[in-house]
Amino acid sequence: MQLSFITRTLRLRNAFTLSRGSIREKQSLVVELTHEGLVGRGEAAPIARYGETPESCLGALERMREAMPESPAAYVPLLRTLKRVAPNEHAARAAMDAAIMDWLGKSLGAPLYRLWGLDPAAMPPTSMTIAIDAPDRVRERAREASGFHVLKLKLGGAEDHAMVKAIREVTDRPIRGDANEGFPDRETALREIEWLAGHNVELVEQPLSAARLEDMVWLKERSPLPIIADEAFIRSKDLSVLAQAYHGINVKLVKCGGTLAAREAITLARSHGLEVMLGCTIESSLGIAAAAHLAPLADYVDLDGNLLIANDPYIGHPVVDGRIALRDAPGLGIA
Ligand code: MG
Repeated sequence: MQLSFITRTLRLRNAFTLSRGSIREKQSLVVELTHEGLVGRGEAAPIARYGETPESCLGALERMREAMPESPAAYVPLLRTLKRVAPNEHAARAAMDAAIMDWLGKSLGAPLYRLWGLDPAAMPPTSMTIAIDAPDRVRERAREASGFHVLKLKLGGAEDHAMVKAIREVTDRPIRGDANEGFPDRETALREIEWLAGHNVELVEQPLSAARLEDMVWLKERSPLPIIADEAFIRSKDLSVLAQAYHGINVKLVKCGGTLAAREAITLARSHGLEVMLGCTIESSLGIAAAAHLAPLADYVDLDGNLLIANDPYIGHPVVDGRIALRDAPGLGIA
């Protein structure tokens, strides 16, 4: 088995501004696993919010290289081993997981959704994200996203109401709000969520800091909209506590550490009565594909990171009528 790691700079089409800052590009690392003439690929998009950098991610990949067996076929014990090698480098583990699963799907001649027994026809619509921006630019983004059934709007800036009103000038499609921990306190968050509920906003992600669990329990009791944990949810063992404070969780492969951990998280979330969003970060079509194969399991799909970048190196699964249309190709199905 051969492993190679490739670093890429993904350039964003527009500046991507959240409540905690703005970026124009993002580093991503690609794992290529070659074995018996087949190549499996996976992408790591490290997230600074969780203490990861491209350097720490590459270091973790090198440590995992040392722990790789002769063949990746026995992937469940292999992924458990890799978790012990790099417990806090979730994006790196997600990339190795995807490369192993892509290779496995190719060796078996089947797309991953079929190996997992999932129906691509059950794919929920994906949202298209609009970052924090001047209201006239937000209006323009909403116009450009006319092919999507749902919009996602980044909140927690000074012009939240103006941005929502700008979108409402061009469409009445539902909006998902994402504050990225940006509301200052629970009373403000409740007031904002009540206002958003009157403007066809269907849910709100992470209104308060992930650390403020008691305030979130208070807010969940009063909120007219479902509240989804994103920054607050990384590990499955946190789910019994999170279920008291949120209505659902945003599962991302780069937080869970890959598709196997994400499938376990989704199963456990359901057992706690939690709704499931399948989300992403800024990543290419390679990273998005790994999540897309799991997306028939989700209530809400937010897999648009590849659509926000200008230099996607891969050809992934197309969005058809607002839904990711999974192609019938082995493994991740990426060209
Ligand atoms: Mg979010």
